[in-house]
Amino acid sequence: MRVGETGETASSEPRLRAEIVAAGASLTRLGLIRGAEGNISVRIGATSVLVTPSGWAKGRLQGACLVLCDVGAEPPRGASSEALAHLLTYQRYPHILALVHAHPPGVLALATRGAIPDPELLKEGRLLVPRVARVPALAPGSRELAEECAVALGRAPAAVMARHGAITSGSSLREALQRMEVLELLAQTALSARGGRV
Ligand SMILES: [Zn+2]
Repeated sequence: MRVGETGETASSEPRLRAEIVAAGASLTRLGLIRGAEGNISVRIGATSVLVTPSGWAKGRLQGACLVLCDVGAEPPRGASSEALAHLLTYQRYPHILALVHAHPPGVLALATRGAIPDPELLKEGRLLVPRVARVPALAPGSRELAEECAVALGRAPAAVMARHGAITSGSSLREALQRMEVLELLAQTALSARGGRV
């Protein structure tokens, strides 16, 4: 069963907390985030979202430190500085059940050349991230950045945030994570093909 579908309410919360902890460790291990960078969230039922806390190393999260948010409200104290981008996205697109924000080095390197990952480069790209949107460079944690991320995620399952990182959505946390990994693979492939070093 997918995250957020019927029955995925209070009883599934401990499992979802464990999934976020594992996702933080995975993103860190893969080098897609370092230290306290990035953030992860999953929808629980229709009105609640679990978000990673501000300032915690994502490789060493604990289930109890995750912050429960109301989709229609301002992010509570202690939630990730980018939590508003997550909440606005969940408000607008009921089909989105998980979000991952990371700072993938290949995506960032490609962006310095004015490019974003091209889904057509690899079979995985076409399957998992058929479209990639762009988000302009805006202040981290700002309402403007949150708004632009929500708009971009309405157009595409992945968005590159200029001079910052990337955000991916999914119908499960596993899918959002896979999309982030494929986005970075597409970027690394493009850089290698151009003889660039990452
Ligand atoms: Zn960031």
